[in-house]
Amino acid sequence: MQFADVIGQEALKQRLRESVQSGRIPHAQLFLGKEGSGGLPLALAYAQYIACENRSPLDSCGSCHNCSKYSKYIHPDLHFSFPFLSPAEEAREFLEVWRKALHDNPYMGYQEWLGYIQEGQKQGNIPIKECRAIIRNLSLKPFESDYKVLLMWFPEFLSNEGNVLLKIIEEPPYKTLFLLVAENSDRILPTILSRTQMVRIPPIAADAIAGALEQRLELEATQARQIAMLSDGSYLKAMHLSQASEHELMNPFREWFLLCFEGNKLKLLDWTQEYQGYGREELKAFFTYGLYVLRNCLVNTYTETGVRLGEAEKNFISKLSTRLNAQSIEALYKLLNSSIYHIERNANSKVLLLDLSMQVHHQLRKK
Ligand SMILES: [Zn+2]
Repeated sequence: MQFADVIGQEALKQRLRESVQSGRIPHAQLFLGKEGSGGLPLALAYAQYIACENRSPLDSCGSCHNCSKYSKYIHPDLHFSFPFLSPAEEAREFLEVWRKALHDNPYMGYQEWLGYIQEGQKQGNIPIKECRAIIRNLSLKPFESDYKVLLMWFPEFLSNEGNVLLKIIEEPPYKTLFLLVAENSDRILPTILSRTQMVRIPPIAADAIAGALEQRLELEATQARQIAMLSDGSYLKAMHLSQASEHELMNPFREWFLLCFEGNKLKLLDWTQEYQGYGREELKAFFTYGLYVLRNCLVNTYTETGVRLGEAEKNFISKLSTRLNAQSIEALYKLLNSSIYHIERNANSKVLLLDLSMQVHHQLRKK
């Protein structure tokens, strides 16, 4: 991964490059930013820049020996650690899947990662054996580059056993770098936190997200800009929003909104019973589609620059937008957004869906 592949974050990239150019690379750094803001891509681009044999002031060369292995995530001096599931005991047992996941989407979130490694609903982990494997790996001399790098994604998953890493973080072997990529500093062992230098990753600028949506997902400029505005600086969220319209969700979503409008509790209970059996990803797609609908209602209400919609969708959205105003759209948007948040965290679907339906009912009837 090169800096050029990292969306936006220009000021931060510059700071990272300067640390390399000045030869003052902190040996343990914590990249801290919200999901989708690009912590993992930044850490990967940074590590590659450090390893590159032919770097320019702006970026790694992309073609030297080290770059070519780094870009495939197979360099022997780049060690990965990340949460995974028992009965496996070391991250390397998942290394092939990990490389595939990085290749597919380095902006992935924790839930996407779980989708690669599990069927069920278990919680990921970074167990003690993995910590010992890290210490073992880092005690080796670098094979092919100056530095050995340990890139740990989600140090939040280190339990108290993770304290076995303290010594090596504090006094690392010669030319060893720790790059920890995290989303929530409150969940990191304070002993680890206090031994790292913080690199705060801001949300990605909307312009940069819009540009990436146009280039990478081939969205047209208007649509890319609208999605970027709604993405809260998260490229992952922007990707989800732009994909939502592709699902064939309009009819089920319209039916649900009609039920909510009607507000008949028995019918809503029936609906809840049907939908509570749906998987987490299906429910997320369903409500993400709702965000897409609401976004288009807003466009319909305030500007004439429509996005590409099917005829049926256009009808639905234009009817719906006559019932809504900016406040109600915003309120509904928040409701759906927070439902997605809770679904990702395995909330009880039955309670969530019924409660949400009633709240949507109240919003729809307000006007
Ligand atoms: Zn290079």
